[in-house]
This record gives sequence, structure tokens and C-alpha cells, in this order.
Amino acid sequence: MKLILIGIQGSGKSTQGNLLTEKLQVPYLSTGHIFRTLAQEKTPLGRYIKETMNAGFLIPDEKTLEIVREYLSRPEYKNGYILDGFPRTIKQAEEFKNGVDKVVYLKVSDKEALWRLSFRNSDREDDTLTAIKKRIELFHKFTEPVIDYYRQNNMLVEVNGENSIEDIFKEILEKLSLQ
Ligand code: AMP
Repeated sequence: MKLILIGIQGSGKSTQGNLLTEKLQVPYLSTGHIFRTLAQEKTPLGRYIKETMNAGFLIPDEKTLEIVREYLSRPEYKNGYILDGFPRTIKQAEEFKNGVDKVVYLKVSDKEALWRLSFRNSDREDDTLTAIKKRIELFHKFTEPVIDYYRQNNMLVEVNGENSIEDIFKEILEKLSLQ
């Protein structure tokens, strides 16, 4: 099964992504994680990605699409995956098809997400309050249209991300007809 997880930072995507990975036995892939690894490289691209991420901005679509396509062409992703953090813009969604089955949207208010993040110990260099607020702002601007796009294509599964971890997971499985 090929699944996409969408939600603002703090919505629980990686928690649910890891539970889904175990349940479905397909790998989990996060573009944020890929970019954080690339940002450590002492190359012009590495430095560019690091600066962009630390400001909370998005990596340009073409670069993002190229990297995601390269990863997903690897054999381990052939039978399915859980993709977290991509697509984040309409252009990414339109240009990326790849036989995706469903898109799970973890719906959480900005207030709840900021509340959760304030308790989270993060070792991410791009987790300054300014960058977090920028990412939330860009989510509303660029990623909400992506949610509408998948809704119109009947691919969207919307769950209440403010429930407990167990209840959210249960709701996802039910809505994906996996239990
Ligand atoms: P995340 O861990 O998903 O919050 O992503 C961290 C950062 O990686 C973002 O703030 C962006 O700079 C970059 N990033 C991750 N996914 C994407 C994407 N699909 N398009 C553009 N930039 C991305």
C-alpha cells in the first residue's frame, strides 16, 4: 500500500507513520528527514538546504521532486511506503502520481500543535519558534490546497489528530478499511 501522511508539524505524522509501517510492513520515508541528512553535507547544495530549512522555508519543487523520485525508485519502496512531508505544494502533488492509494490527513489546530511542540524535546536545528511558525504559515498557504486536491480526487482520509495516539490509529485503520 502506498500512503501519504499530511498534517502540520506536531500533528503526529511520524508517530502514526511508524505504527502504520509496522502494521503494513512497508517502509516509512520522511522528506524532512532526507533534507536534514542532506543539510549536513558540506557542499553548496547542503549549505543551501540547511539555510532554507532553518528559516522554515520550503525547498524548491523541482529539487524536492527529483530527490523524492530518486528515493522511491529504490527497490525497497516498490511494494509500498508511508510518505511523510510530501507533497507540500500543488505542483508537487500534480507532478507526483506513483500509484498512491490514499492520503491521510491528520487534522490538528495550530494551537494544539504549538502546545504539543512546546513540550517536545527536539534535536532539530530547524526547530526554532520562528521556523515552526513559518512552517505552519506555509502549511496553510501551500499545503491546504494539496488537501483539497486529494479530496477532489477521492483519495483523502481525514482523521481527528487531537485524539489519543491509539484512537487516531484506530480511526486511520477503520477509514482505510484495514480493520
Ligand atoms: P518536516 O520535517 O516535514 O517539518 O520538514 C522540515 C523541512 O524540510 C521543511 O521546513 C522544508 O524546508 C523541508 N521540506 C520537507 N519536505 C518538503 C517538501 N515536500 N517540499 C519542500 N520542502 C520540504
